[in-house]
Amino acid sequence: MEDCLFCKIAAGEIPSTKVYEDDHWFAFRDINPSAPVHVLLIPRQHVKNILALTDETNKNFSDFFLVVKKIAEQEGLGDNGFRLVINTGAEAGQTVFHFHAHIIGGKAMGWPPF
Ligand code: 5GP
Ligand code: ZN
Repeated sequence: MEDCLFCKIAAGEIPSTKVYEDDHWFAFRDINPSAPVHVLLIPRQHVKNILALTDETNKNFSDFFLVVKKIAEQEGLGDNGFRLVINTGAEAGQTVFHFHAHIIGGKAMGWPPF
């Protein structure tokens, strides 16, 4: 197994506040939330980021947006909306190199975010 923080969280070896799980996905609350709702959605399979995806690993991503939708609705974000952020690579601010999508909501947000 990869020596990876998010692999260990998905495996339950490091505690987290679970929000959702199924065969391919695990979602938990960000330890340093940027908004009232800040959930991280990760694949159980270790994929570094979008740039590391292959035809093979992409098979487990086919339901990605439906899982995002399910979590957003479960978190009460269905009426006012939410932001989906996937930092990819160092310049974008990716600090944990296991693919993760930030699902952020519960307050009005500005754009651009930088
Ligand atoms: P990135 O900057 O890579 O897009 O996002 C990494 C996110 O992971 C950050 O928002 C950070 O707060 C969160 N994070 C880092 N370590 C942990 C941890 O041990 N537990 C949880 N729940 N979140 C973490
Ligand atoms: Zn990993």
